[in-house]
Amino acid sequence: MKNRWVGKPCYYCGNPSVGLEHAPPAHMFKGFTCDKIRVPSCLVHNSSKSQHDQDVVAALLTPFRSSEGLQPINPKVQLAVERAKESFQRSKHRAIETPFISNKPSDMQHLPNVAYMSTESMFSWIRQLTAAIFYDGLKRYVAEVDWERMIIRSPNWVARKGPFDLASFEEAGKIFRQNQELRDLFDEEQWEPGWSAHPKPYPTEIYNFWLSVGYDDGIGIKHQFYGNFDWYTWFSAPRNEVTAFRKVVRTGMSG
Ligand SMILES: [Zn+2]
Repeated sequence: MKNRWVGKPCYYCGNPSVGLEHAPPAHMFKGFTCDKIRVPSCLVHNSSKSQHDQDVVAALLTPFRSSEGLQPINPKVQLAVERAKESFQRSKHRAIETPFISNKPSDMQHLPNVAYMSTESMFSWIRQLTAAIFYDGLKRYVAEVDWERMIIRSPNWVARKGPFDLASFEEAGKIFRQNQELRDLFDEEQWEPGWSAHPKPYPTEIYNFWLSVGYDDGIGIKHQFYGNFDWYTWFSAPRNEVTAFRKVVRTGMSG
């Protein structure tokens, strides 16, 4: 089963593959019996044996775990939190739990903790996921796409190592407002629903994606994790590839 992936161009860099990569990584679906989107990958662009996937999952789930009992949580996300118990432990030095605001006033006690993670670590993970979805749409590697030049934005991402204190509360408010403006701007684009794993799809509460393919050379992929965290990505591809990808998007399936 695994052998048919070996030697094919890697979804990300085109080098000969040594196996397959799940998109998103299988780690995200612990506890669920869904299928996975799979793409051929070289050793460098295969995260299945690395710690990285656990770190990202732990970072994304930290706000849910820290608000357990304080706010209602979707049952499927709750299950994901329970299945990630070991990851929280293993990843605690790379997905560092921190309050969003230190010395929270009493009316903000419900604010969940967040997790700090290095921007490069998070962004490279998003970059690879986007490349994998693009590969899965076309079922082939496109050498002309420069993945390192991808634009990545998330209204849920604050690049900051520690908590805001009350003195820097203004700053936090400013970031929230900017993030909201960012979301409004992106949502003006026309987003088409993406596809899923086949035949058993991903639980949409865990992962979902949308696509925006215009008539120039730009492609947008919006990822959503745990029904809550949106990551917008934009990249350029040759026109003929954009046209081919648009057909895939319009027919609603990856073939
Ligand atoms: Zn590679």
